[in-house]
Order: sequence, then structure tokens, then C-alpha cells
Amino acid sequence: MSQIKTANKETIKKAADLIRSGEIVVLPTETVYGLGANALDGQAVAKIFAAKNRPSFNPLITHVSSIEQAETLVDMSVDAKAVAREFWPGPLTLILPRKEEAGVSDLVSAGLETLAVRMPAHPVARELIEEAGVPIAAPSANSSGEPSATTPRHVKDSLGERAPFILAAGSCDVGLESTVLDMSGDVPVVLRPGCVTAEDLKPLLGDVAYDLGKDKGEDVKSPGQLLKHYAPSIPVRLRAVEVKEGEALLAFGSLKFMGVEGGGAAKDLPDHALRNLSEASDLHEAAANLFTMLRDLDVPENTGIAVMDIPDTGVGIAINDRLSRAAQGR
Ligand code: AMP
Ligand code: MG
Repeated sequence: MSQIKTANKETIKKAADLIRSGEIVVLPTETVYGLGANALDGQAVAKIFAAKNRPSFNPLITHVSSIEQAETLVDMSVDAKAVAREFWPGPLTLILPRKEEAGVSDLVSAGLETLAVRMPAHPVARELIEEAGVPIAAPSANSSGEPSATTPRHVKDSLGERAPFILAAGSCDVGLESTVLDMSGDVPVVLRPGCVTAEDLKPLLGDVAYDLGKDKGEDVKSPGQLLKHYAPSIPVRLRAVEVKEGEALLAFGSLKFMGVEGGGAAKDLPDHALRNLSEASDLHEAAANLFTMLRDLDVPENTGIAVMDIPDTGVGIAINDRLSRAAQGR
């Protein structure tokens, strides 16, 4: 049976025991809920892939509780250390050359010579890693292809009995997966946009390019870029200027001039067909609401989801990345 337990000293200890004994545990982070296992234990890591139905060529992020712990797993250049000092704990994942002797399972990095590492800002995540005494490999706690889970309820809806132990701590502050920054090559590249943006990195690294793997077919740097991702079960239509019959509206900013095909105002749509990511047009608020609202609108009463235009700057780049993948369907 799947158990949801409010995070506290005792339940964190219980979760740490499960991790050490090779089981999988759902943990809260500031980005999204993670499905974690001991990164050093291949059999435990295999359970993550099975529970999520995740293709085994898609590597996982290894979560650490300190920069020192990260240094045991990967080679950290001077730049990488500077970035970690500035942005950790926080929603930034670094891809770095892996240290073979650290003993991280090959399954975690899907056979690549690099490893993705991150120190999460959520205190429960860090306490769990410390208590377990091992690095924790964890992707988002949802079935592969679905939007990431940002509340314990979403985890349960998506994974059911495949998530036997859920450490619950409310909804996630950031609500979008971490920025993935590849620092293993000659120049740093953002492979997945997130709340830490290229502008944020600029003072330390200079201009950082985005390589989001679009229109590249098989030739992508991050295996996750190949996959359809984050998709609700009904069609998603972007940059909508009106709402079509039967569609729900995922709004951003003012609804004043948004109409419904055939007449009527979008603001009068029924509750099951209307969500606003941020009435104040705040991109951080929109990011935090994105996956919850996509799930809210993914109900049988709606035939599709029309999404209003979202500015492609700052965190908007990350939101539009997830939405364009959602629009490709499952
Ligand atoms: P998730 O665990 O669902 O948040 O996804 C982690 C993301 O990081 C995926 O898009 C992976 O493809 C990417 N990733 C993990 N490890 C590596 C790596 N060593 N090199 C490139 N991308 C990676
Ligand atoms: Mg995921």
C-alpha cells in the first residue's frame, strides 16, 4: 500500500532507512517531487525506472547535501565550484565528468561519462540525504511523459502503488524542474531551462547559450531532450488568441480581451475550464502554478487546453520549453 507521511524527524528517518535498504522513496524538493533511491545501488535505481516506466537511456540527477559530497562524485572545475557556491542549494543541476571510483551506478548516468548533480534547497530533501548517508538519484515522481508532480496528491494520482512511501511537505515552491547546465565541455551550455536563467549565470560564466535540443532529431546532448514530456492527456494549443468550443483556457495576465469562439468572454468560462497562471503576469508565480494547472484542466469536460502567449524571457523560456513539449502530446 502507498503511504503518504508528513515529513518530520521520524518519517525522514524511516525514509532514510528505506533508502539504505535499497527501496525507493518519494521526497519533496523545491523544484518538483522526486522519486529517490540510493545512487550507489544499481538494483535500487532500477526500481525507479520500473516505477516510472522511464526509458533506461534517460539518466537521472544525483542529489547531494553538500558541495563536498558532490566533489566525491564528479570532477569540479574552478568554474563549477564557483557556480555551486553561488547557486547551491538551489534549482540548478550541473553536468560534470563522473568519478568512476565513487561507485555511482551506471544506470544513473545511463552509461554516459558525465553525471548530473544537484544540492536541493528543500530542507527535507537535504536532511534525508544526510540521514541516509548516501547520494540520492531521483527523477520527478510521476509516470514518464506526464507533467512533473508538484504535490503529494499528484504523485499518488500518477504513480499510485508504484510509489510506496511518500514523504509529504506541501506543494513545491519553484514548481518547475531544475535548470540543467552542462559544464563538462569547453563551454557551459544550458540543456534544460529552469528558474536559474542564463542572465543569472552571466556574472560568473559570461554568455551562456541555451541548447534545448529542438529540431535536432537524435543529435541531442541530453537524452531527456529526445522524449516527449510534460504532456496532459488532451491536446495543448499554444499562443491562443481565442478559446475554441470545448477548450479550456490556461491564461497568463489579464483576460480582459480574451474571447470565446462564437461569442462570449473567457473570464466567464466555468471553473473546470479556466485557470490563470498569474493574473499579475509574474513569471515565477506562473512557473509554480504550471503543472498543477495543467493537471486541473486535464479533465473529461475539456477537449483541449488553449494557452495564452507567455513572454520568452527569463523564467518564461523554461515555461515555454515545457509547454512546447506538452503541445507535442504523449
Ligand atoms: P529528471 O530526472 O526527470 O528531472 O530529468 C533529468 C534531466 O537531466 C533529463 O533531461 C536528463 O536527460 C538530463 N541528464 C541527466 N544526466 C545527464 C547527463 N549526464 N548528461 C546530459 N543530460 C543529463
Ligand atoms: Mg521528469
